[in-house]
Amino acid sequence: MSQRRVLLIEDNPHNRYLLRYLLESQGDRVDEAVDGPTGIRLALESRPDLILLDIQLPGMDGHEVARALRTEHALGEVPIVAVTSHAMAGDRERALAAGCDGYLEKPINPDTFLASIAELPARSAGGGRP
Ligand code: MN
Repeated sequence: MSQRRVLLIEDNPHNRYLLRYLLESQGDRVDEAVDGPTGIRLALESRPDLILLDIQLPGMDGHEVARALRTEHALGEVPIVAVTSHAMAGDRERALAAGCDGYLEKPINPDTFLASIAELPARSAGGGRP
């Protein structure tokens, strides 16, 4: 798999550590943000190929972050994967309605995580990237 740039928006340091470890093990470059506003700013700076978005964030929650990211035309159709620890009925639908492309439940399973994000339906490429 070619190297991707992945942005983690996640307030939990243990989850950031685990996700970074897994992604870097396959050669991805990883940027981290601990809250939504920082994540949006970093996304615009780093133009990630994939965004992993915690839904339970302090302040601006993941749904709000996803909606805000989708208004940024500079980001194009970058895939956003929601990650949530409160798997309740309707969570997946709400994440997709907010603009996410995929949905993963915590706890992250290290044995299946990489395969699960590799299977994501890719949005149409473009988004201003050459
Ligand atoms: Mn959280």
